[in-house]
Amino acid sequence: DTPAPPQVYLKPHFNYNPATDNLIPCKEAGLAFFKGDILHVVNKEDPNWWQARKVVGGATGLIPSQFLEEKRKAFVRRDSDTSEFDRYELQIYEEVAKMPPFQRKTLVVIGAQGVGRRSLKNRLIVMNPLRYGTTVPFTSRRPREEERDGQNYCFVMREEMEKDIKESRYLEHGEYDGNLYGTKIDSIHEVVNAGRTCILDVNPQALKVLRTAEFMPFVVFIAAPELDTLRAMHKAVIDAGLTTKLLTENDLKKTVDESARIRRAYSHYFDLTIVNDNLDKAFDKLQEVVERLFIEPQWVPVSWVY
Ligand code: 5GP
Repeated sequence: DTPAPPQVYLKPHFNYNPATDNLIPCKEAGLAFFKGDILHVVNKEDPNWWQARKVVGGATGLIPSQFLEEKRKAFVRRDSDTSEFDRYELQIYEEVAKMPPFQRKTLVVIGAQGVGRRSLKNRLIVMNPLRYGTTVPFTSRRPREEERDGQNYCFVMREEMEKDIKESRYLEHGEYDGNLYGTKIDSIHEVVNAGRTCILDVNPQALKVLRTAEFMPFVVFIAAPELDTLRAMHKAVIDAGLTTKLLTENDLKKTVDESARIRRAYSHYFDLTIVNDNLDKAFDKLQEVVERLFIEPQWVPVSWVY
């Protein structure tokens, strides 16, 4: 017995509104959708227009085919700025499958420096130490007086670290002040094998490697709020004596700009976006959504399942 072929579900990575599309032959026949909706494609016979049905709500209509959308985007991109955009990464529709509730191997928290990722990660682990864990980065620098191996860092010899980097044993690495730092892939597996979801607050460049069946990440983007809000939040933290690290107006602006840049370049990877305009509220939202993953079915890339 061969199992029935899996039904094709698509997750679009763009918003579509037939009312403003001058290519569609009949606007009334079109199906409007938003980025991230799940579409069931019912008919693909026409090379340009597919018939689709929204999984939520059940509305049906025509959507542009992959082929049509590729042509349209190639045309538009010719004269727009794509310098920081990884164009080969551009996805139009992603094939997805529905999985029963399951514990993600990793929870990846993406965002600009200074947007509160570290605090959110630490809070999640402190509140649910049996459910979440994280990795300890490796470094080739010497331990400082008060530092214990395995606490803030695992200390290793530079030669060993260089060798492991060459052998692709690191998810990411960087050099700072003449020393190497990085996250080892094995240390992610250790957390996962202990039954926990491994929370990673890595650079968005690591997403390409992470978004596979090996790591099954749930990707959360922590977006910076408006500059005024960010400034007020920082002032409150300083006034409360929670940090002495005073950020300049320029630092705050950098955070807002960096946040916008990450969103532009990587939004197709995000499962969830949280604007951090209040740390407590952002935490509650994050906690609520990640807890739901344990009890609700999830749409994941088809390659994780088949
Ligand atoms: P420190 O030696 O003062 O503990 O850290 C210095 C710098 O190393 C940090 O500010 C940070 O930029 C960098 N660093 C720490 N951990 C990692 C890591 O896991 N990966 C990378 N790429 N850099 C790190």
